[in-house]
Amino acid sequence: DVILSVRGLRKSYASGTEALKPIDLDIKRGEIFALLGPNGAGKTTLISIICGIVTPSGGEVLVDGQDWRTHFRHARREIGLVPQELTMDVFEPLLNTVSFSRELFGYPADPKRIEEILRSLSLWDKRKAILKELSGGMKRRVMIAKALAHEPKILFLDEPTAGVDVELRRDMWNLVRKLRDQGTTIILTTHYIEEAEEMADRVGVINKGELILVENKDELMKKL
Ligand code: ADP
Ligand code: ADP
Repeated sequence: DVILSVRGLRKSYASGTEALKPIDLDIKRGEIFALLGPNGAGKTTLISIICGIVTPSGGEVLVDGQDWRTHFRHARREIGLVPQELTMDVFEPLLNTVSFSRELFGYPADPKRIEEILRSLSLWDKRKAILKELSGGMKRRVMIAKALAHEPKILFLDEPTAGVDVELRRDMWNLVRKLRDQGTTIILTTHYIEEAEEMADRVGVINKGELILVENKDELMKKL
């Protein structure tokens, strides 16, 4: 059961950089898929195109079998993105930040649903806190809560554990598994081989804009 398809997707930036060679990829409903590659490989470009932030130079993206371009409202609602950088208002309590993220999608406010999301991320007790009162781990959870606020079926995590200590990385891995077990399809980027091995059901190795699919993680080392 394929939830997301990428067909012949290419990107050349105005600078001339060919960030993505034609890429084909099918994501299965309910899996954790890791895009593994070094800096500059094209990971962020690929997920930015799928999330509608960067325009591709060619190819197509299908969400639930429907073309992104002709069904963009549907596609946008099915997708949540946790970017690498923190994007949270400095003085706004996190509850407001997360509620607003839902309303941005044109959904009515739903305090019960927002409470559920915050509780599942162990953020409920911190709902009145502002950014500077939150620890690094909490900040990352807020970014996940924002991305989940409109209840997307597919969640993208861009380098979810870049620059975090070992303990926090374990927490993040457990959290991602929990989200998958609750039914969300997860696509994450990483440059840590252990993270791809530990977390993913399948891995795509991306290098210089080319993607090699690894169906069986035991073969991962051979493909690197
Ligand atoms: P495009 O119009 O091809 O989509 P963007 O609008 O994303 O390109 O970027 C415009 C310009 O910004 C690029 O042509 C490039 O010169 C510069 N730029 C932005 N981010 C980067 C980056 N990560 N690496 C190199 N150049 C960048
Ligand atoms: P990764 O996420 O794997 O580090 P990126 O997708 O950010 O890789 O970058 C892929 C290539 O495209 C790199 O060579 C990068 O410098 C270039 N690039 C990324 N964004 C832009 C941009 N806006 N303009 C021009 N070049 C870019």
